[in-house]
Amino acid sequence: MDKLWMRKKEELFREYETSKHGLSGEDAEKRLEKHGENKLREGKRKGIVQVFFEQFADLLVVILIVAAIISALTGGMEGTIVIITVLILNAILGTVQHFKAEKSLESLKAMSAPNARVIRDGEKMEVPAVKLVPGDILLLEAGDVAAADGRILENHSLQVSESALTGESENVNKSADLIEKEELPLGDRLNMVFSGSLISYGRAVVLVTGTGMETEIGKIANLMESAQEKATPLQRSLDDFSKKLSFVILAICVVVFGLGVWRGQALADALMFAVALAVAAIPEALSSIVTIGLAIGTQKMAKENAIIKNLRAVESLGCVSVICSDKTGTLTQNKMTVQKVFTLSGTTDADDVDCDKKQHRELIVTGVLCNDGAISGDAKIGDPTETALLSFCRKTGGHEGDIRGDYPRLGELPFDSDRKLMSTLHQLDGKILMMTKGAPDVLLSRCNKIVENDTNREITQKDLDRIIAENQALSSQGLRVLAFGKKEIGEQRRLTLEDERDLTFIGLIAMMDPPRLESAPAVADCLRAGIRPVMITGDHKVTASAIAKEIGILQEGDRAVEGAELEHISDEELRDMVKEISVYARVSPEHKIRIVRAWQENGYIAAMTGDGVNDAPALKQADIGIAMGITGTEVSKDAAAMILTDDNFATIVKAVGNGRNVYANIKNSIQFLLSGNLAGIITVLFTSLLGLPLPFTAVQLLFINLLTDSLPALAVNMEKPTGDLLNDKPRNPKESILTRDFVKRLVLQGGLIAVVTIIAFYVGLGENPGLASTMAFATLCLARLFHGFNCRGIRSIFRLPNNPYSYGAFAIGGALLMSVLLFSGLHQLFDINNALTATHILQIVGLAFVPTLIIQLERLARGR
Ligand code: ATP
Repeated sequence: MDKLWMRKKEELFREYETSKHGLSGEDAEKRLEKHGENKLREGKRKGIVQVFFEQFADLLVVILIVAAIISALTGGMEGTIVIITVLILNAILGTVQHFKAEKSLESLKAMSAPNARVIRDGEKMEVPAVKLVPGDILLLEAGDVAAADGRILENHSLQVSESALTGESENVNKSADLIEKEELPLGDRLNMVFSGSLISYGRAVVLVTGTGMETEIGKIANLMESAQEKATPLQRSLDDFSKKLSFVILAICVVVFGLGVWRGQALADALMFAVALAVAAIPEALSSIVTIGLAIGTQKMAKENAIIKNLRAVESLGCVSVICSDKTGTLTQNKMTVQKVFTLSGTTDADDVDCDKKQHRELIVTGVLCNDGAISGDAKIGDPTETALLSFCRKTGGHEGDIRGDYPRLGELPFDSDRKLMSTLHQLDGKILMMTKGAPDVLLSRCNKIVENDTNREITQKDLDRIIAENQALSSQGLRVLAFGKKEIGEQRRLTLEDERDLTFIGLIAMMDPPRLESAPAVADCLRAGIRPVMITGDHKVTASAIAKEIGILQEGDRAVEGAELEHISDEELRDMVKEISVYARVSPEHKIRIVRAWQENGYIAAMTGDGVNDAPALKQADIGIAMGITGTEVSKDAAAMILTDDNFATIVKAVGNGRNVYANIKNSIQFLLSGNLAGIITVLFTSLLGLPLPFTAVQLLFINLLTDSLPALAVNMEKPTGDLLNDKPRNPKESILTRDFVKRLVLQGGLIAVVTIIAFYVGLGENPGLASTMAFATLCLARLFHGFNCRGIRSIFRLPNNPYSYGAFAIGGALLMSVLLFSGLHQLFDINNALTATHILQIVGLAFVPTLIIQLERLARGR
């Protein structure tokens, strides 16, 4: 059989049992069952066994294994069993967590999965790209990522980047013509598109010929990388910290062991001390707490309309210090309605437009023809600027379907945001006419004639001045103005960009796109949080400034600059002046990347929004690239780190707040874990130096570190954001988590807990050494449970929002401790002394509460 690129359309329709009206929904369902979903098979995942054993490949775990062996050799068989059990439990936990994290990443991925536009049952509709089947009629346009392989049926200047397949970064001009050649390399199959290619320009109608693993990319790639996540900077710095900690612990253990032996302690006892110290010091729960904290954060953000594509972004979000945002649809509602119409006969309110007037009618017809939007039922499909023109046509009594039926499109030059124009070709009144719409300044500079009273005449300077003044007046009311023009082409032929000159000016249409209600408060939040909001838009400077002023982005002393001005400014100059500029108007996508760089060179962490196909480089350059879930192109979503499912600026600010909160929670839980461990270390060191008996056994320490300490640490991660977080300046991403303040708090709090633990130890020692250890263990455990409340935030507990998890954590931890103390069956395992009485328990509770009391009183005093 002939190759796909050699066959005629009719043959293909027959073979794929389809037509230009597409498949029926029912047929598509059946085909989906037969061919399977349109996605690549994922790479082989790590199996459970592998993940389980990987949990043991950690220096700290190795230290624990050595401790278990030593414990066995020195006769503490229970200790060995407990340590081994704990290690196995820990590994199981780690394994479960690994797969849960993988699953949650997958669900995030599914949320950001692409859609495809198809024709089914004769109607244009959007379906998830995974549901595409061979035989579907796929509609591609600039900004899409082709979701399947297909043969081009209709081509409108389609340009495609196939670098994913061919490695060739140049755009390829596609065509719909047959190619009569049997052997043809991929790059030369000009009438085909391949899954994974980026559509950089134009539009095409394509017959899907291959989906899923049947595509060219499926054949080469065969396996897609699975949802594995690289470690985030925080995770890496903590891994690094753990490694250093391991060496320090080992060194101290050796010293303590040497000290014991030198003092004449029995070898076995000296070893026990060393083991206890190692176990006390190792923060076993640390890495899982960080991962859980990040995961909780991403889930919460997803619920609040911000889909994070990788955990790394959660951390960077908290550091964002400048947000460069698009205007249309992000700061504004993107609900455009036509307000005013201008022709040479004057400006008219939208309500008073008269279709019988030839000039008004011509303007409406041009707006409908030079337009890719559609209205189907209540749904508006396509660019809101364009659907607004269709709604306007209906409002004046017309119907876009009739107009488009009367004057079918013969050719086109699609809109692009660099050129800011769009043109289409039609037969109208016996003439072949090109209709053009676009930004007024651009279109006007290409006009040499103007329509007046049904005739065309040369445009004069006076006309130009009048139109410019009118555009200015409409824009300064915050209206978005489009200009319309036409040109006789003479014959039906392919349009080129050269055609978009010597146009005849028809008129202006101004539409209103009101700011979102949330924008002004969100901008105020940004400013309070030390984050600079900047507006970057393709719209007119006057329109942009009016809206920026209204929502608070453009303030006294700030500047608004046009893209054209940027052309004359060097990168160095831009770097020096970037902080003065709050509004960039009429920019092209390549300006965006310069603006981001300029901010970054000033040391800022930049978030940047983008929706178009050309925005991808700027989104990649930004520290946090943000794509629009509703209106964004697939290419932009691909390049972004975060996707807004509601396209809303306020969601970005909320996400930054959440990012800060995640970091604060993780930091607080680290503080909680490390200060508790420090208390354990100090106590062991103290007793070892004074030659006192061992205060805790390894089993007791593991009980605290793994069980009772994990709960409050988890609860801290569930802490909700408070308004406080937006009162601070953004965090410096280079700043280590162990700041001086942090270490100071750590030492003070760990010290306090150690002091009460040592007091409890002495109280018990008065009776017998066994009781001393039991009292020290119970006090350390309970004091750390209380300390969980201190670590919820830096405010006093009375000034924090409610967090039921923290009470739950305390209750469960307390119950676990009490069962160990009170059930005699557990006494042997945990080395609990039988002499423990109710009085002792009261003493334990009293002592354990003291550090928290002191810390809270200090906060109350300071708060006042
Ligand atoms: P933002 O960058 O904030 O999203 P924008 O929509 O104005 O704003 P672009 O899409 O780059 O940015 O559009 C640039 C300009 O091109 C617009 O201000 C408008 O004048 C013109 N324009 C926008 N959409 C169309 C269109 N579909 N056809 C013709 N001209 C358009």
